[in-house]
Amino acid sequence: MTEHEMPISTPCPVCGKKTLRYKATELNIPHFGKCLETLIYCTSCGFKHADLMILETHEPTRYELKIETEKDMNARVIRSTSGTITIPELGAKLEPGPYSEAFITNVEGVLNRFVNVLLQLLHTYPSKKEAILDTMRKIGYIRHGRLNATMILEDPFGNSAIISEKVRKRALSKEEIKNLKTGELTIELREINE
Ligand SMILES: [Zn+2]
Repeated sequence: MTEHEMPISTPCPVCGKKTLRYKATELNIPHFGKCLETLIYCTSCGFKHADLMILETHEPTRYELKIETEKDMNARVIRSTSGTITIPELGAKLEPGPYSEAFITNVEGVLNRFVNVLLQLLHTYPSKKEAILDTMRKIGYIRHGRLNATMILEDPFGNSAIISEKVRKRALSKEEIKNLKTGELTIELREINE
């Protein structure tokens, strides 16, 4: 693992101070390959932006993992800022956007991210409480292998991956690449209520 760190002279987009730093770490992830994790962070206000680049392959790829048991919670998920994660059973979608963050986590970590968004929604839209609680309950069932779900990860630059023996991997078609939207995290609560 090699690491480089240096100051950047551009002002921080949040606080305006010239206290930004850039850090790049080369990682070697088993069954995935070498990638470069980059982080821009501000020592004054705590602003940070992470990204991930694969240094080996760049094929547009679609990964599909059936989540059926608690063991599937441990499957590794590498999501770069160009990756879209969908769980159709929850009507939940994490899309690239101006504020999207790269992360390396596992299936459970992705579910936790969705729970955090639902908690924010609960605060913002109290009238949707029932639908939000229903989705959170479903996530709980999925986590304990009591409800089957599918995690789909699509990346037009091939910078993202799900690593599991069970995962199905294939190239994205031109049509699918065209249909990948950018819109941050959306959870379609109406769909869940059907
Ligand atoms: Zn700052």
